Amino acid sequence: MFVHGARRRPPPGRVAYVDGRYVRHGEAMVHVEDRGLQFADSVYEVITVSRGRLRDVAPHLARLERSLGEIGMRMPIRPSSLTAVLTETARRNRLKEGFVYLQVTRGAASRDHAVPPCIAPTLIVTAKHSDMQAVEARRASGIAVVTTRDTRWARCDIKSTGLLPNVMAKTDARKKGAFEAWFVDAKGFVTEGSSTNAWIVASDGTPITRSLSDNILPGVTRGVLIRTMAAAGLGVTERAFSVGEALSAREAFISSATGGVMPVVRIDGKAVAGGAPGPVAKRMHGLYRELSLKDSNA
Ligand code: PLP
Repeated sequence: MFVHGARRRPPPGRVAYVDGRYVRHGEAMVHVEDRGLQFADSVYEVITVSRGRLRDVAPHLARLERSLGEIGMRMPIRPSSLTAVLTETARRNRLKEGFVYLQVTRGAASRDHAVPPCIAPTLIVTAKHSDMQAVEARRASGIAVVTTRDTRWARCDIKSTGLLPNVMAKTDARKKGAFEAWFVDAKGFVTEGSSTNAWIVASDGTPITRSLSDNILPGVTRGVLIRTMAAAGLGVTERAFSVGEALSAREAFISSATGGVMPVVRIDGKAVAGGAPGPVAKRMHGLYRELSLKDSNA
């Protein structure tokens, strides 16, 4: 049984794309022995749709190609065809504000850990509306995060659907009344959020975010923010920061395709930055929105 969000019914006529066909969302399905289902042998992307247009498609597809390459797979179809599928899925779902979800699995085969030699990938695209009022209310009030031990694998740079630690961390955060969980490594440094990159602002106003490595996902929004800041003549420092440093930082925030820049006002129940969203996060979100909309695929 598919359980939809408790409060909101899906809009009528939701459509999904599965392996070359647009089908009714409720009837979309993959093989019971799909390796994405059995082994999380699959990767994914989440691309924002804003004012009916896909945003930052090129870096999302570049990251998809990289994730696939790291697990020995190629793009299932050409990037231009994939963009057309994403656009068409958004259109068929009458999506104005929301996101398209894209997943490429290794495909279906008789269950065996070793990848069989001849296997065709499964390509899935779905679309979901965002409640922008709720997102903007969150941005205005700021969010709470809780910290948790980073128990994930050593290749978090691959956008794999093996997300059980992320699911558990986010669920635990929600139970504690927080919006996001921040993973903390063995040395006490924040790696990233369960589905976001983590940032703080130094006393001189410089934003700080962890440098790229196998430990974190190279967030598309993170990358766009760094480029946007550089274009505006403003710097970003890429280095690790501890929970203690975050607690005494001038500001803290998270970034993701679905939320843009979202201020953090509490960490583990303690107020950050006086418990209110700060000007740096606000400015960065403004710059991100402007640039991202300008660059969104026409
Ligand atoms: N880190 C993790 C673990 C994520 O799952 C995500 C997004 O899903 C991000 C960071 C943010 O990445 P992006 O800006 O591409 O949405």
